[in-house]
Amino acid sequence: MIRFNKPYVTGNEMKNIQSVLKSGRMAGNGEFTQKCQEWLECEIGCGKALLTNSCTAALEMAIILADIGRGDEVIIPSYTFVSTANAVVLRGGIPVFVDIREDTLNIDETKIEAAITARTKAIIVVHYAGVACEMDTIMGIAEKYKLLVIEDAAQGILAKYKGRPLGSIGHLAALSFHETKNLVSGEGGALLINDAAFQKRAEIIWEKGTNRKEFYKGLVDKYSWVDIGSSYLPGELMAAFLYGQLISSEIIDRARMKVWNRYQESFAAAEKYNKFRRPIIPKEISHNGHIYYLLLPTASDRDQMLQRLQVKGIGVVFHYIPLHSSPAGIRYGRICGDMGVTDSVASRLIRLPLWGEMKEEEVELVISLVQDEANHIEENVLSE
Ligand SMILES: *Cc1c(COP(=O)(O)O)cnc(C)c1O
Repeated sequence: MIRFNKPYVTGNEMKNIQSVLKSGRMAGNGEFTQKCQEWLECEIGCGKALLTNSCTAALEMAIILADIGRGDEVIIPSYTFVSTANAVVLRGGIPVFVDIREDTLNIDETKIEAAITARTKAIIVVHYAGVACEMDTIMGIAEKYKLLVIEDAAQGILAKYKGRPLGSIGHLAALSFHETKNLVSGEGGALLINDAAFQKRAEIIWEKGTNRKEFYKGLVDKYSWVDIGSSYLPGELMAAFLYGQLISSEIIDRARMKVWNRYQESFAAAEKYNKFRRPIIPKEISHNGHIYYLLLPTASDRDQMLQRLQVKGIGVVFHYIPLHSSPAGIRYGRICGDMGVTDSVASRLIRLPLWGEMKEEEVELVISLVQDEANHIEENVLSE
């Protein structure tokens, strides 16, 4: 049995947790929260970073900061996790779904302008598999129409677009440290604030709508309810675990990239015979080995490969059900244009096991079983 994913634990996490227990300060915004935030600000080169309980929470904060209200529209890809759209809907906004590009599976920047109306306030881009969206074009459109850009960089930590770390480009960005991501704390995330105008309000929203931060700094004489907010900041135990991951990020990413690169070179031949297509990484983009996927020729090829590999104990999985055709997406969202690429990709994509501590023989076993299945695809074609 080869699992789809297994978090990489470095050993530093436990030491940090023990130090929190010894200090007796377990609530949020303590020493390790500060350390994590400083690390993110320094490594990503973003503005202010605030740790959150999840990427979902960070996206909710971003939508509050963007002042999305009833009837306001936010342009997003349909091929993404529910949290991207949910954050908008929770504030009464309308997610407007745009199709994705065939190569990167990211929002198709050439289709964004057609989706803009008088009610459009923001664009949320999703860097699928840690491969950057076409940010220069997207930031240009946003500037032209005075829209905010929020990066859903849940999968994008330490990946780059033209040398710039993901999460440092949009006005706001959200990271995830969920168990399935590259760097983890079980559940966890961060809001990155690149436009300094949002910083003060972000800290209030983060602290349940209070001015507690100013109170502790001695700037006000009592702390009170000053704005809307929620309990978005995580406890110190989570931050302590996360800090152990952050300082080992290079080792973790290198280990993932090794597996990713081995897959990519092994499947080159099969791709030549049109058995499937491998991930496409545009020039000037460096990714972080977050996902290794294959696109099969048809939905039935994909379903068959998924089932046959799972029976053999290989943890392969498909990915998103497009939001525009999900029950809540139909109820709360709106489509702009054709969703052909999204629908096609969603039905043909398979993700292979990928984690840092995968043994070489495990990687080779996955490769050989996938290649066996690829031969099967040919048989199907010939017998038709
Ligand atoms: C994982 C993920 C999320 C949600 O992250 P959580 O930390 O689990 O809330 C949101 N968007 C994308 C694109 C993701 O991959």
